[in-house]
Amino acid sequence: NQPEADALVLFGATGDLAKRKLFPSLYKLERSNTLDVPVIGVARSDWTDDDFRTHARESIEAHVDDADDEIISSLSDRLDLIQGDYADEATWEELRDTLDRHGSETAVFYMAIPPSIFPMVAEKLASVGLNERGRIVVEKPFGRDLDSAVELNQTLHSVFPEDHIFRIDHYLGKEAVEDLLVFRFANTLLEPVWNRNYVRSVQVTMSETIGVEGRGSFYEGVGAIRDVLQNHLLQVIALLAMEPPAGPDARFLQDEKAKVISAMRPIECSQMVRGQYVGYRDEDGVADDSSVETFAAVRLEIDSWRWAGVPWYVRVGKGLAENATEAVIELREPPRMLFDEAGSPPPERNLIRLRLGKNDGVTFALQAKTPGPSLDSQEVDVDVDFAAALGERQDAYERLLGDALVGSLRRFARQDVVEGTWAIVQPALDEPGEIFPYFRDSWGPSEADNILEPGDHWYPPSPAR
Ligand code: NAP
Repeated sequence: NQPEADALVLFGATGDLAKRKLFPSLYKLERSNTLDVPVIGVARSDWTDDDFRTHARESIEAHVDDADDEIISSLSDRLDLIQGDYADEATWEELRDTLDRHGSETAVFYMAIPPSIFPMVAEKLASVGLNERGRIVVEKPFGRDLDSAVELNQTLHSVFPEDHIFRIDHYLGKEAVEDLLVFRFANTLLEPVWNRNYVRSVQVTMSETIGVEGRGSFYEGVGAIRDVLQNHLLQVIALLAMEPPAGPDARFLQDEKAKVISAMRPIECSQMVRGQYVGYRDEDGVADDSSVETFAAVRLEIDSWRWAGVPWYVRVGKGLAENATEAVIELREPPRMLFDEAGSPPPERNLIRLRLGKNDGVTFALQAKTPGPSLDSQEVDVDVDFAAALGERQDAYERLLGDALVGSLRRFARQDVVEGTWAIVQPALDEPGEIFPYFRDSWGPSEADNILEPGDHWYPPSPAR
């Protein structure tokens, strides 16, 4: 771990992310007495310190239930705003002088700004020597393809060392996603079957019922593959597929992720189906002939001893039938002798469903004897709802901000992992191929079945409760 930060600098303090996520998270850190630093906003907007504090208060009141006035006030006391143009040297000198005044030696520079200006801000920080006095937090998206991600890494590395670059993928901040590590490596029950000998397939679904609603012009430059597959889903898959890390140190975890990502084959375009919901082209900001995908299904292969030959079916999309983020591990059938003799239908395959969304938890779909004289079996679910069993989860941004302040890289994405995930999706960006329409409230275009092995089918995710 690195030294704890003694200041937080928030670029883009007037923006949407700051309003919806960062101020509410800062409030929660203040509430738990874990925020002990000045928070310095930087903005071009013509705001005073008071405007900034009022804005922070309104953001918190809008996003935190029953926010406590005293806690908001003590957070407000930490807030200062530097108003100025990023092109103006004086803005950077003022920032350096402000940090000097606070006696800061290790600041967190949080880039809640459009990605196009990440390089410029990193270089401007260096121009006043602040790259030597802190670490940067870089928001998503990190590049828009492999080349731009490599280029951004090169620029950032020219001013910050790798271990001072905290790349956000907020999925890594979700407790339900982090639980994949605990679930896999704290339960002896699972590890013996967690491999190609017992696992028939793995299906990962991230589905949303909403469409692009009002964000059409943003989405036109992105699509489902860039928006969630390259980052959130491949991070989830890495956690599901990787080998156990050698220890709790962030480096060991990143090493295992990097290894499994490099064992994943780049997407084969014949193993990918892109879809677009009917009505997408009528959204504001969307071209009449847009071929941007709002759905993608891909079959991934992992060439490792653990996973060779096991298909990983992945689908993501908007305008689908359920809100779900779920991984289904489908186990192989047991030998059938007992049931052949009895003339009974073969048992259904066991499933382990890991729910990573709002209803996070786990369900084991097991077989139990159907009442009556025969040896027929039927599915019974052994189900745990983590919120009910364990209590409320911490918010992802609260955890990530807290990690950046204490200097823990464990829940951030390392350079080789980010570039590796871009390399996996790059063929899908280079040769996107046909796009198939689908109706909203469905599970995407029926062509998504074409990437399945004969006899396989998509498992519908468990409905949100
Ligand atoms: P935003 O509202 O568009 O912009 C944030 C702030 O950046 C603006 O308030 C503006 O503040 C400043 N800004 C905009 N253009 C600028 C420019 N050309 N030069 C200098 N400053 C500029 O962005 P956001 O939605 O908050 O997102 C911030 C970052 O988080 C982005 O990288 C985004 O991709 C990422 N992100 C956002 C969300 C989300 O839910 N919003 C989710 C995931 C990731 P001033 O003009 O006052 O300086």
